[in-house]
Amino acid sequence: MSVKSIGILGAGQLARMMALAGMPLGYRFNIYDTSGAPSAGIGTLFSDPSNTQQELNSFLAEVDVVTYEFEHLPLDLANTIAQRKPLHPNALSLATCQDREREKAMFTELGIPTPRYRIAHSADELRRAVDALGLPVVAKSATEGYDGKGQAVIRALDEVDAAWNKIGHPRLVVESFVTFSRELSVIAVRGAQGEVKSYPLVENHHHEGILRYTLAPARQVSATHADQAADFITRLLNRLDYVGVLALELFETPQGLLANEMAPRVHNSGHWSMNGAATSQFENHLRAISGLPLGNTEAQRPTCMINLIGCEIDLKAVTALPDCYIHLYDKTPRPGRKVGHINVCAETESSLHERVRQVLSVLPSMPDYPYA
Ligand code: AMP
Repeated sequence: MSVKSIGILGAGQLARMMALAGMPLGYRFNIYDTSGAPSAGIGTLFSDPSNTQQELNSFLAEVDVVTYEFEHLPLDLANTIAQRKPLHPNALSLATCQDREREKAMFTELGIPTPRYRIAHSADELRRAVDALGLPVVAKSATEGYDGKGQAVIRALDEVDAAWNKIGHPRLVVESFVTFSRELSVIAVRGAQGEVKSYPLVENHHHEGILRYTLAPARQVSATHADQAADFITRLLNRLDYVGVLALELFETPQGLLANEMAPRVHNSGHWSMNGAATSQFENHLRAISGLPLGNTEAQRPTCMINLIGCEIDLKAVTALPDCYIHLYDKTPRPGRKVGHINVCAETESSLHERVRQVLSVLPSMPDYPYA
Protein backbone atom coordinates (compact mmCIF):
# COMPACT_ATOMS: atom_id res chain seq x y z
CA MET A 1 0.00 0.00 0.00
CA SER A 2 1.46 3.35 -0.97
CA VAL A 3 0.03 6.09 1.21
CA LYS A 4 -0.05 9.68 0.02
CA SER A 5 -3.18 11.02 1.60
CA ILE A 6 -4.33 10.44 5.16
CA GLY A 7 -7.88 10.93 6.42
CA ILE A 8 -8.51 11.92 10.03
CA LEU A 9 -11.90 11.73 11.75
CA GLY A 10 -12.14 14.71 14.08
CA ALA A 11 -10.72 18.20 13.64
CA GLY A 12 -9.27 19.15 17.01
CA GLN A 13 -5.71 19.66 18.20
CA LEU A 14 -4.74 15.98 17.91
CA ALA A 15 -5.65 16.02 14.19
CA ARG A 16 -3.75 19.28 13.82
CA MET A 17 -0.59 17.86 15.44
CA MET A 18 -0.83 14.66 13.37
CA ALA A 19 -0.97 16.74 10.21
CA LEU A 20 1.93 18.91 11.36
CA ALA A 21 3.98 15.75 11.96
CA GLY A 22 3.01 14.13 8.67
CA MET A 23 3.64 16.99 6.27
CA PRO A 24 7.44 16.56 6.34
CA LEU A 25 6.82 12.93 5.27
CA GLY A 26 5.04 14.33 2.22
CA TYR A 27 1.54 13.30 3.29
CA ARG A 28 -1.61 15.24 2.48
CA PHE A 29 -4.34 15.49 5.09
CA ASN A 30 -8.10 15.40 4.76
CA ILE A 31 -10.07 16.00 7.91
CA TYR A 32 -13.66 14.88 8.41
CA ASP A 33 -15.58 16.65 11.15
CA THR A 34 -19.17 16.19 12.28
CA SER A 35 -19.01 18.48 15.33
CA GLY A 36 -19.59 21.69 13.41
CA ALA A 37 -16.74 23.26 15.39
CA PRO A 38 -13.50 22.25 13.67
CA SER A 39 -10.37 23.82 15.09
CA ALA A 40 -7.49 21.96 13.43
CA GLY A 41 -7.01 24.70 10.84
CA ILE A 42 -4.89 22.47 8.62
CA GLY A 43 -5.46 20.12 5.70
CA THR A 44 -8.61 19.93 3.61
CA LEU A 45 -11.68 20.08 5.83
CA PHE A 46 -14.83 18.04 5.16
CA SER A 47 -17.29 19.63 7.56
CA ASP A 48 -20.40 17.51 7.88
CA PRO A 49 -22.48 18.48 10.94
CA SER A 50 -25.61 16.85 9.50
CA ASN A 51 -23.86 13.58 8.54
CA THR A 52 -24.58 13.57 4.84
CA GLN A 53 -23.45 10.50 2.96
CA GLN A 54 -22.20 12.75 0.19
CA GLU A 55 -19.59 14.57 2.29
CA LEU A 56 -18.34 11.27 3.72
CA ASN A 57 -18.05 9.88 0.17
CA SER A 58 -16.07 12.92 -0.95
CA PHE A 59 -13.74 12.55 2.03
CA LEU A 60 -13.21 8.83 1.46
CA ALA A 61 -12.52 9.38 -2.23
CA GLU A 62 -9.52 11.54 -1.28
CA VAL A 63 -7.78 9.29 1.25
CA ASP A 64 -5.68 6.10 1.24
CA VAL A 65 -6.03 5.33 4.93
CA VAL A 66 -8.23 6.64 7.75
CA THR A 67 -7.47 7.26 11.41
CA TYR A 68 -9.22 9.17 14.19
CA GLU A 69 -8.36 11.60 16.94
CA PHE A 70 -11.11 10.73 19.42
CA GLU A 71 -12.78 7.52 20.54
CA HIS A 72 -16.35 8.77 20.98
CA LEU A 73 -17.05 8.03 17.38
CA PRO A 74 -20.18 6.16 16.28
CA LEU A 75 -19.22 2.52 15.74
CA ASP A 76 -21.42 2.22 12.66
CA LEU A 77 -19.51 5.10 11.07
CA ALA A 78 -16.23 3.32 11.83
CA ASN A 79 -17.56 0.05 10.37
CA THR A 80 -18.85 1.79 7.23
CA ILE A 81 -15.49 3.43 6.69
CA ALA A 82 -13.57 0.21 7.38
CA GLN A 83 -15.46 -1.49 4.54
CA ARG A 84 -14.15 1.08 2.10
CA LYS A 85 -10.68 2.15 3.31
CA PRO A 86 -8.15 0.78 5.81
CA LEU A 87 -9.14 2.10 9.25
CA HIS A 88 -6.46 2.25 11.97
CA PRO A 89 -6.83 1.57 14.83
CA ASN A 90 -9.45 -0.99 13.80
CA ALA A 91 -13.12 -1.00 14.83
CA LEU A 92 -12.50 -3.66 17.54
CA SER A 93 -10.02 -1.31 19.23
CA LEU A 94 -12.49 1.54 19.03
CA ALA A 95 -15.37 -0.58 20.39
CA THR A 96 -13.22 -1.80 23.28
CA CYS A 97 -11.80 1.57 24.27
CA GLN A 98 -15.07 3.47 24.07
CA ASP A 99 -16.78 1.21 26.59
CA ARG A 100 -15.26 0.89 30.07
CA GLU A 101 -17.00 -2.45 30.65
CA ARG A 102 -15.39 -4.02 27.57
CA GLU A 103 -12.09 -2.40 28.42
CA LYS A 104 -12.11 -3.84 31.94
CA ALA A 105 -13.09 -7.26 30.60
CA MET A 106 -10.10 -7.17 28.25
CA PHE A 107 -7.71 -6.15 31.04
CA THR A 108 -8.98 -9.12 33.02
CA GLU A 109 -8.80 -11.51 30.06
CA LEU A 110 -5.17 -10.52 29.47
CA GLY A 111 -4.16 -10.77 33.14
CA ILE A 112 -3.59 -7.02 33.43
CA PRO A 113 -4.35 -5.91 37.01
CA THR A 114 -7.11 -3.29 37.27
CA PRO A 115 -9.11 -1.93 40.23
CA ARG A 116 -11.84 -4.35 41.39
CA TYR A 117 -15.14 -3.48 39.75
CA ARG A 118 -18.82 -4.24 39.27
CA ILE A 119 -21.38 -3.16 36.68
CA ALA A 120 -24.55 -1.31 37.76
CA HIS A 121 -27.71 -0.75 35.68
CA SER A 122 -29.75 0.90 38.47
CA ALA A 123 -29.34 2.71 41.77
CA ASP A 124 -30.08 -0.62 43.53
CA GLU A 125 -27.31 -2.38 41.61
CA LEU A 126 -25.03 0.53 42.43
CA ARG A 127 -25.82 -0.04 46.14
CA ARG A 128 -25.04 -3.75 45.75
CA ALA A 129 -21.76 -2.90 43.99
CA VAL A 130 -20.81 -0.66 46.92
CA ASP A 131 -21.64 -3.54 49.32
CA ALA A 132 -19.46 -5.92 47.34
CA LEU A 133 -16.50 -3.59 46.87
CA GLY A 134 -16.59 -1.64 50.13
CA LEU A 135 -16.42 2.16 50.43
CA PRO A 136 -15.19 4.36 48.89
CA VAL A 137 -15.87 3.62 45.21
CA VAL A 138 -15.64 5.55 41.97
CA ALA A 139 -18.72 5.18 39.73
CA LYS A 140 -18.17 5.95 36.05
CA SER A 141 -20.52 6.01 33.07
CA ALA A 142 -19.62 2.99 30.93
CA THR A 143 -19.50 5.11 27.77
CA GLU A 144 -19.00 8.73 26.80
CA GLY A 145 -16.95 9.77 29.83
CA TYR A 146 -13.73 11.75 29.50
CA ASP A 147 -11.51 14.01 31.64
CA GLY A 148 -13.28 12.83 34.79
CA LYS A 149 -16.76 13.71 33.43
CA GLY A 150 -19.63 11.27 34.08
CA GLN A 151 -18.04 10.12 37.36
CA ALA A 152 -18.73 10.30 41.06
CA VAL A 153 -16.79 9.24 44.13
CA ILE A 154 -19.10 7.60 46.68
CA ARG A 155 -17.83 7.73 50.26
CA ALA A 156 -21.04 6.89 52.17
CA LEU A 157 -24.01 4.62 51.39
CA ASP A 158 -26.47 7.51 51.54
CA GLU A 159 -24.65 9.12 48.57
CA VAL A 160 -25.65 6.33 46.18
CA ASP A 161 -28.91 7.81 44.86
CA ALA A 162 -27.39 11.24 44.33
CA ALA A 163 -24.43 9.71 42.47
CA TRP A 164 -26.73 7.62 40.26
CA ASN A 165 -28.83 10.71 39.41
CA LYS A 166 -25.82 12.97 38.88
CA ILE A 167 -24.14 10.61 36.41
CA GLY A 168 -27.46 9.98 34.64
CA HIS A 169 -26.25 7.04 32.58
CA PRO A 170 -27.98 3.63 32.22
CA ARG A 171 -24.81 1.57 32.81
CA LEU A 172 -22.01 2.29 35.25
CA VAL A 173 -18.65 0.72 35.93
CA VAL A 174 -18.16 0.90 39.70
CA GLU A 175 -14.55 0.61 40.89
CA SER A 176 -12.82 0.36 44.23
CA PHE A 177 -11.25 3.69 45.08
CA VAL A 178 -7.50 3.30 44.68
CA THR A 179 -5.08 5.14 46.94
CA PHE A 180 -2.35 5.48 44.37
CA SER A 181 1.08 6.96 44.91
CA ARG A 182 1.04 8.50 41.45
CA GLU A 183 -0.63 8.37 38.05
CA LEU A 184 1.52 7.06 35.22
CA SER A 185 0.89 6.35 31.59
CA VAL A 186 2.59 4.37 28.89
CA ILE A 187 2.24 4.98 25.19
CA ALA A 188 3.24 2.44 22.58
CA VAL A 189 2.97 2.07 18.86
CA ARG A 190 2.36 -1.11 16.85
CA GLY A 191 3.31 -1.19 13.20
CA ALA A 192 1.55 -2.81 10.29
CA GLN A 193 3.73 -5.95 10.60
CA GLY A 194 3.08 -6.27 14.35
CA GLU A 195 6.31 -4.72 15.65
CA VAL A 196 5.86 -2.80 18.94
CA LYS A 197 7.82 0.08 20.47
CA SER A 198 7.01 1.68 23.82
CA TYR A 199 7.77 5.15 25.06
CA PRO A 200 9.01 5.31 28.67
CA LEU A 201 6.53 5.59 31.52
CA VAL A 202 5.58 9.18 32.28
CA GLU A 203 4.09 10.81 35.35
CA ASN A 204 0.83 12.77 35.06
CA HIS A 205 -0.66 15.46 37.29
CA HIS A 206 -4.29 16.53 36.99
CA HIS A 207 -6.10 19.56 38.32
CA GLU A 208 -9.91 19.64 38.37
CA GLY A 209 -9.97 16.49 36.23
CA ILE A 210 -7.73 17.89 33.48
CA LEU A 211 -4.13 16.88 32.81
CA ARG A 212 -1.87 19.82 33.67
CA TYR A 213 1.70 18.47 33.81
CA THR A 214 3.44 15.42 32.40
CA LEU A 215 6.98 14.60 33.48
CA ALA A 216 8.85 12.37 31.05
CA PRO A 217 10.38 10.01 31.84
CA ALA A 218 8.70 9.34 35.21
CA ARG A 219 11.10 9.55 38.16
CA GLN A 220 12.53 6.47 39.87
CA VAL A 221 10.55 3.83 38.06
CA SER A 222 11.55 0.32 39.13
CA ALA A 223 12.73 -2.02 36.38
CA THR A 224 9.79 -4.28 37.27
CA HIS A 225 7.24 -1.53 36.69
CA ALA A 226 8.91 -0.39 33.47
CA ASP A 227 8.84 -3.97 32.15
CA GLN A 228 5.29 -4.57 33.33
CA ALA A 229 3.95 -1.42 31.68
CA ALA A 230 5.57 -2.35 28.36
CA ASP A 231 4.30 -5.91 28.73
CA PHE A 232 0.69 -4.83 29.51
CA ILE A 233 0.45 -2.51 26.56
CA THR A 234 2.07 -5.02 24.22
CA ARG A 235 -0.50 -7.64 25.23
CA LEU A 236 -3.30 -5.18 24.49
CA LEU A 237 -1.84 -4.15 21.14
CA ASN A 238 -1.42 -7.75 20.03
CA ARG A 239 -4.83 -8.86 21.29
CA LEU A 240 -6.51 -6.03 19.38
CA ASP A 241 -4.35 -6.58 16.28
CA TYR A 242 -3.79 -2.87 16.64
CA VAL A 243 -1.99 -0.55 14.24
CA GLY A 244 -1.02 2.91 15.51
CA VAL A 245 -0.47 4.56 18.89
CA LEU A 246 -2.26 3.34 22.02
CA ALA A 247 -2.16 5.02 25.45
CA LEU A 248 -2.63 3.16 28.73
CA GLU A 249 -3.20 5.06 31.99
CA LEU A 250 -1.97 3.35 35.14
CA PHE A 251 -2.12 3.84 38.89
CA GLU A 252 1.10 3.12 40.76
CA THR A 253 0.37 1.61 44.17
CA PRO A 254 2.54 -0.08 46.79
CA GLN A 255 1.01 -3.39 45.56
CA GLY A 256 1.98 -2.74 41.94
CA LEU A 257 0.58 -1.16 38.79
CA LEU A 258 -3.16 -1.11 38.06
CA ALA A 259 -4.58 -0.30 34.63
CA ASN A 260 -7.11 2.53 34.75
CA GLU A 261 -8.13 3.11 31.15
CA MET A 262 -6.79 3.23 27.62
CA ALA A 263 -7.22 5.50 24.62
CA PRO A 264 -6.97 4.26 21.02
CA ARG A 265 -5.17 7.33 19.74
CA VAL A 266 -2.37 9.78 20.29
CA HIS A 267 -2.70 11.08 23.83
CA ASN A 268 -2.14 14.27 25.78
CA SER A 269 0.36 12.50 28.05
CA GLY A 270 2.49 11.80 24.94
CA HIS A 271 2.81 15.42 23.80
CA TRP A 272 6.22 15.64 25.52
CA SER A 273 7.55 13.33 22.76
CA MET A 274 7.36 16.21 20.23
CA ASN A 275 10.51 17.64 21.80
CA GLY A 276 11.75 15.01 24.23
CA ALA A 277 11.96 11.92 22.00
CA ALA A 278 13.59 11.29 18.63
CA THR A 279 10.25 10.42 17.04
CA SER A 280 7.06 11.99 18.34
CA GLN A 281 3.94 9.94 19.05
CA PHE A 282 2.28 11.75 16.12
CA GLU A 283 4.94 10.76 13.60
CA ASN A 284 5.04 7.20 14.94
CA HIS A 285 1.27 6.91 14.65
CA LEU A 286 1.46 8.01 11.02
CA ARG A 287 4.40 5.72 10.32
CA ALA A 288 2.42 2.79 11.72
CA ILE A 289 -0.80 3.43 9.82
CA SER A 290 1.03 4.01 6.56
CA GLY A 291 3.18 0.89 6.84
CA LEU A 292 6.55 2.59 7.47
CA PRO A 293 9.19 1.36 9.96
CA LEU A 294 8.66 2.78 13.45
CA GLY A 295 10.93 5.47 14.85
CA ASN A 296 12.96 5.59 18.06
CA THR A 297 10.72 5.97 21.14
CA GLU A 298 13.44 6.55 23.75
CA ALA A 299 13.40 9.75 25.79
CA GLN A 300 16.32 11.90 24.69
CA ARG A 301 16.22 14.30 27.63
CA PRO A 302 14.01 15.03 30.63
CA THR A 303 10.94 16.93 29.46
CA CYS A 304 7.98 18.50 31.19
CA MET A 305 4.76 19.11 29.27
CA ILE A 306 2.71 22.02 30.61
CA ASN A 307 -0.89 22.09 29.40
CA LEU A 308 -2.36 25.50 28.68
CA ILE A 309 -6.00 25.49 29.75
CA GLY A 310 -8.33 28.34 28.82
CA CYS A 311 -5.60 30.97 28.93
CA GLU A 312 -3.63 33.24 26.66
CA ILE A 313 0.11 33.43 27.00
CA ASP A 314 2.66 36.18 26.55
CA LEU A 315 4.41 34.74 23.52
CA LYS A 316 7.30 37.18 23.75
CA ALA A 317 8.01 36.29 27.38
CA VAL A 318 7.84 32.53 26.79
CA THR A 319 9.90 32.49 23.60
CA ALA A 320 12.62 34.41 25.46
CA LEU A 321 13.23 31.36 27.67
CA PRO A 322 15.66 28.58 26.70
CA ASP A 323 14.68 25.02 25.68
CA CYS A 324 11.02 25.83 25.80
CA TYR A 325 8.83 24.73 22.88
CA ILE A 326 5.40 26.23 22.36
CA HIS A 327 2.55 24.39 20.64
CA LEU A 328 -0.59 26.52 20.33
CA TYR A 329 -3.75 25.06 18.80
CA ASP A 330 -5.30 28.29 17.46
CA LYS A 331 -8.34 27.87 19.70
CA THR A 332 -10.27 30.64 21.43
CA PRO A 333 -9.65 30.37 25.18
CA ARG A 334 -12.63 29.22 27.28
CA PRO A 335 -12.57 27.87 30.83
CA GLY A 336 -11.42 24.23 30.82
CA ARG A 337 -10.47 24.28 27.12
CA LYS A 338 -7.09 22.91 26.06
CA VAL A 339 -5.58 25.69 23.93
CA GLY A 340 -1.97 24.58 23.74
CA HIS A 341 0.96 23.11 25.58
CA ILE A 342 4.56 23.98 26.26
CA ASN A 343 7.33 21.39 26.35
CA VAL A 344 10.28 22.32 28.51
CA CYS A 345 13.47 20.27 28.11
CA ALA A 346 16.75 20.16 30.03
CA GLU A 347 19.84 18.01 30.39
CA THR A 348 19.07 16.91 33.95
CA GLU A 349 15.91 16.57 35.99
CA SER A 350 16.89 19.20 38.54
CA SER A 351 17.71 21.78 35.85
CA LEU A 352 14.40 20.87 34.23
CA HIS A 353 12.42 21.83 37.35
CA GLU A 354 14.29 25.11 37.60
CA ARG A 355 13.50 25.85 33.96
CA VAL A 356 9.83 24.92 34.37
CA ARG A 357 9.55 27.31 37.32
CA GLN A 358 10.92 30.08 35.08
CA VAL A 359 8.29 29.30 32.45
CA LEU A 360 5.50 29.14 35.04
CA SER A 361 6.53 32.57 36.36
CA VAL A 362 5.49 34.13 33.02
CA LEU A 363 2.26 32.10 32.60
CA PRO A 364 -1.12 33.16 34.00
CA SER A 365 -2.59 31.25 37.00
CA MET A 366 -1.19 27.73 36.71
CA PRO A 367 -1.88 25.00 39.29
CA ASP A 368 0.94 24.26 41.75
CA TYR A 369 3.94 22.63 40.14
CA PRO A 370 4.33 19.29 41.92
CA TYR A 371 8.14 19.37 41.91
CA ALA A 372 8.58 22.75 43.61
P1 AMP B 1 -10.62 8.37 34.30
O1 AMP B 1 -11.62 9.13 33.49
O2 AMP B 1 -10.98 6.93 34.48
O3 AMP B 1 -9.21 8.55 33.79
O4 AMP B 1 -10.63 9.05 35.75
C1 AMP B 1 -10.28 10.41 35.94
C2 AMP B 1 -9.43 10.56 37.19
O5 AMP B 1 -10.16 10.12 38.34
C3 AMP B 1 -8.17 9.71 37.18
O6 AMP B 1 -7.13 10.39 36.50
C4 AMP B 1 -7.90 9.54 38.66
O7 AMP B 1 -7.26 10.70 39.20
C5 AMP B 1 -9.29 9.47 39.25
N1 AMP B 1 -9.71 8.05 39.38
C6 AMP B 1 -10.27 7.30 38.41
N2 AMP B 1 -10.52 6.04 38.83
C7 AMP B 1 -10.12 5.99 40.11
C8 AMP B 1 -10.09 4.97 41.11
N3 AMP B 1 -10.57 3.75 40.86
N4 AMP B 1 -9.58 5.28 42.32
C9 AMP B 1 -9.10 6.53 42.59
N5 AMP B 1 -9.10 7.53 41.70
C10 AMP B 1 -9.60 7.29 40.47
